[in-house]
Amino acid sequence: MKDKLYLIKEGEISLKGGNRNLFEKRLRHNIKDKLRPYSSEIDKQKGRLYAYISEEASDELVEKVLKTTTGLTGYAKAYRTEKDIEAIKAKAREILPFSRFSSNGSFRITVKREDKTFPLNSHDIAIALAEVVTSLYPDIKVDLDNPDYTLTCEIRNEAYLYTDEEKGEGGLPSGTAGKGMLLLSGGIDSPVAGYMMAKRGMRADAIYFHAYPYTSELALDKVKTLASMIAPYLQGLRLFVVPFTEGQLHIRDKGYEEEATLMFRAAMMQTAQILAEKNGAGAIITGEALSQVASQTIDAMSFTDSMTDLLVIRPLVGMDKEEIIAKAKHIGTYETSILPYEDCCVVFSPKHPITRPVKEVSRRHFEELDMDSIIRKAVSDTVIYSFDANGREIDA
Ligand code: ATP
Ligand code: MG
Repeated sequence: MKDKLYLIKEGEISLKGGNRNLFEKRLRHNIKDKLRPYSSEIDKQKGRLYAYISEEASDELVEKVLKTTTGLTGYAKAYRTEKDIEAIKAKAREILPFSRFSSNGSFRITVKREDKTFPLNSHDIAIALAEVVTSLYPDIKVDLDNPDYTLTCEIRNEAYLYTDEEKGEGGLPSGTAGKGMLLLSGGIDSPVAGYMMAKRGMRADAIYFHAYPYTSELALDKVKTLASMIAPYLQGLRLFVVPFTEGQLHIRDKGYEEEATLMFRAAMMQTAQILAEKNGAGAIITGEALSQVASQTIDAMSFTDSMTDLLVIRPLVGMDKEEIIAKAKHIGTYETSILPYEDCCVVFSPKHPITRPVKEVSRRHFEELDMDSIIRKAVSDTVIYSFDANGREIDA
């Protein structure tokens, strides 16, 4: 069967010493997993991966897979031909019309002649291919330093040609850095937080605290959509929907109003810790950013941290809203996040939340709320949704 070929560049993985194989193995596994049921083989040569993928898989699918897989910095669709200069020129003539090359702009030819027995040297090959380019695009200019377009020819066991290299996500392959529990609300921030940790190699499951009917079914649907959108970066995830109406009402009725958000956050940490322990996660990930809202001050965040033994990761802590929005747009979650359905924090938010809680005092207040049995019940009533590495919902 005929396969199509993609060249894949690793970024940070190539800096790994003895562990490099493990990272590469995970990257290959992640790509192959997303391409199923189509067959694919990924070989390595000279610091590059060569993915041979069944022709039955569409270019759209392959490109979406490579765009959302963390741990690769770039990729290009490549074409193979015999190691014969006429065949190489013919192939170039065939593929250029489908590339970005155009008469406006500049180009260069890059040649990598790994097979030193090939009769033409790199310079001769470049000249031959430049002639093909200028015959198709008479007004195009040559610019070796800063070209708009590049045609690359590699002479190895066969000859390879490729143009348009696309940027990948970079970072490390998801699944090489342990697992976290992502607190996923319907807002802009938390999906971005999950994506950022995927780029550092983490996997994650997500937890959503649902306070039906104070938060609507539509709010839950929105969170499910967001979970499916970040699933490709995280190589799939499960979404734990924790029914938390009773907990919210308890905090509202028995606690101090100005501490309500803090008490909810404490309950979230304890619930997340139980779910993390059951599901092999070693950290909690949130979308908090310093000073964004009252519960995101240093004092408030130290209090929340003190409610769990797990590492709390806040990848957005030093980012401003514009930067976060740009990332949300990049991963495609922004439009969904700004849909109006409120999450429970909004419904139960106090009018005058405290920003400078004293840890010991708030901890005592939380203990007085005596929420253990409410939390245990919420955990046992949790509903799980599963999303595969392509973001499709599957049976849990
Ligand atoms: P986001 O945009 O992610 O909703 P936010 O700026 O609205 O964040 P908060 O509502 O204070 O800030 O929430 C801070 C973080 O707490 C969120 O990023 C998320 O990680 C977590 N969180 C808040 N509400 C929920 C919820 N209902 N279920 C799960 N996690 C939540
Ligand atoms: Mg929110």
